[in-house]
Amino acid sequence: MGKRKFKTEVKQILDLVIHSLYSNREIFLRELISNSSDAIDKLKYLTLTDEAHKGLNFSPEIEVTLSEDGKQLQIVDNGIGMNENELNENLGTIASSGTKKFLSSLGDSQKKDSNLIGQFGVGFYSAFMVADKVEVLTKKALSDTAYFWLSDGSEEYTLKEAEREGHGTTVTLYFNEDAQGSEGFNTRWSLERIIQKYSNHVAFPIYLTSYQDEYDEEGKKKDGKECKREQSNSASALWKRSKSEISEEEYKEFFHSLAHDTCDSLQTIHTKAEGTLEYTSLFFTPEKAPFDMYQADYRSGLKLYVRRIFISDDNREFLPVYLRFVRGIIDSEDLPLNVSREILQQNKILQQIRKASVKKLLSEFANLARNDKEKYIKFIEQYNRALKEGLYSDHEHREELQQLVRFRSTATIGKEGAGGWTSLEEYCLRMKEGQQSIYYITGHKAEQMANSPLLEAYKKKGFEVLILDDEIDGIIAAQLGPYKHDEKHIPIKGVNLADSTDELKDEENEEEQESKSKEYSKLLEKLKEILKDDVKDVKLSRRLTESPACVVDDRNDPGAQLQQMMQAMGQEAPPTKPILEINSDHAIVRKLHDKVDQDISDAAHLLLEQALLAAGLVISDPLAMSKRISRLMEQGF
Ligand code: ADP
Ligand code: MG
Repeated sequence: MGKRKFKTEVKQILDLVIHSLYSNREIFLRELISNSSDAIDKLKYLTLTDEAHKGLNFSPEIEVTLSEDGKQLQIVDNGIGMNENELNENLGTIASSGTKKFLSSLGDSQKKDSNLIGQFGVGFYSAFMVADKVEVLTKKALSDTAYFWLSDGSEEYTLKEAEREGHGTTVTLYFNEDAQGSEGFNTRWSLERIIQKYSNHVAFPIYLTSYQDEYDEEGKKKDGKECKREQSNSASALWKRSKSEISEEEYKEFFHSLAHDTCDSLQTIHTKAEGTLEYTSLFFTPEKAPFDMYQADYRSGLKLYVRRIFISDDNREFLPVYLRFVRGIIDSEDLPLNVSREILQQNKILQQIRKASVKKLLSEFANLARNDKEKYIKFIEQYNRALKEGLYSDHEHREELQQLVRFRSTATIGKEGAGGWTSLEEYCLRMKEGQQSIYYITGHKAEQMANSPLLEAYKKKGFEVLILDDEIDGIIAAQLGPYKHDEKHIPIKGVNLADSTDELKDEENEEEQESKSKEYSKLLEKLKEILKDDVKDVKLSRRLTESPACVVDDRNDPGAQLQQMMQAMGQEAPPTKPILEINSDHAIVRKLHDKVDQDISDAAHLLLEQALLAAGLVISDPLAMSKRISRLMEQGF
């Protein structure tokens, strides 16, 4: 025992907290109170489920005490406490996986916001925003030894045995100058305000103790100070109250403390289920997607309670993965308290709650889409991708999800706000008479895609094309259809797939097309021979009107976009070649036709390369291409 060194990442966090976090410093109290509340949750759970802890009788509470001189603040709880090992690991050596992410998420901006620190699992260190020195005195429930931890934010911390009455943890902050001065965390008024703002709905009473000047009847200041101790939070399980009794403001505060954030939620979904299954759920959709949403080790945003007793918040199975952005609580009346946390996902009751919750959430999203278009687009801007994941993974709710996803399209591109998006339903309502399929194009840049040569014939026919420009689209596109509209199942087809041109056929032109195929067969063969290493086939195109050529994918091949994406991620992509389609009405193609007995190798390659470029794809050998251009220009001028 004695002095120990902080792990490097912890040291980095400390430096950052001490020197760079400026805005929202008041959240230190939210973080410390939330740790106290977690510690009480853990102990309460054990007293109800674990034999050894059953005899332990305690009434949970959190004390926040400001010293008489206003220089120290104590946060005291009678929760589970920590033993030597835990103290050492939690507050010193084991830096949680969130540490590095927190550091990098702050980026290079000058004014760093401390607000999110709790989401990264390093909330405790926020104490050093307001304190030069922090002490922790803690004793684990059922243990006889207490431990004392002390740090002034430098390289080392002190750890030694100590005395403490009863189990729980006391955190003592020695306020730094700013905390006492400009920021004024040393007044009852400000502490009360902070507790109410962030911790009003912590489930246990928080008592605030402070010393105030006393005045006599004539208003003259007395010598001594009066000690005042009052409960500062409402300590109710908000979700248990009926909807009509809860104000917007209360929901909002509850969400803030739940999410360790000050952003608001787009939707509040409060449900009380009665009957065969009794439970309450309160869900929120954050205005901004959680920072770790697309990380493999994202934190779950849901807490499970059984009859108001906290059970678990690290279970990702409460909702399907694609709904991982939802924050909130589920409180069941039917689950046994000692439900094993490990086998929660196999629990029948929980599975039923999960099922009902997914239904509820999806139907509330649909309500939002119907009733508040602008707000729904805010939702879409954050969670469209999650909904698409759902289309891929949750076949049971396919139809609901098809209604919820939104797309850019040739009919909406360039429009602002809600007008810039379309649903599949809206697309169908705009469909040309007789149009049989919904069409889409995949790629990276929406503007470029809207002008792709692949769309020429569709545009000419007046067919709208969905523009799928999100990375994930390349993967989900094939799973999008069919879409049910007017009792019909409408297929959804990619315009870059070889078999998507059925509808572009013109009965009258069929014969002409046939004879052209014959006429051009020699050119097609020759191009195939020249380009055999790069393309699978060369065909006459039905989809081009203005461009000389385009590339399309075989229906069964993974698309070119998907391939390039996999390569970018360092994954091996199976080599597939595109099909080159050429436009026999184009002057270049006609010229090639005329010169089919000469050497057309340069032109053939260029034809393919410019088609690849137009599709937003990468050219494998730009140098060879530029040489070809030079050679052709020499001949041409
Ligand atoms: P998080 O709460 O997200 O895990 P923190 O940095 O806030 O991250 O706390 C780190 C850990 O320290 C907690 O997980 C908990 O194990 C321990 N801890 C902090 N405060 C207390 C407390 N008052 N009582 C018991 N354990 C605590
Ligand atoms: Mg915490």
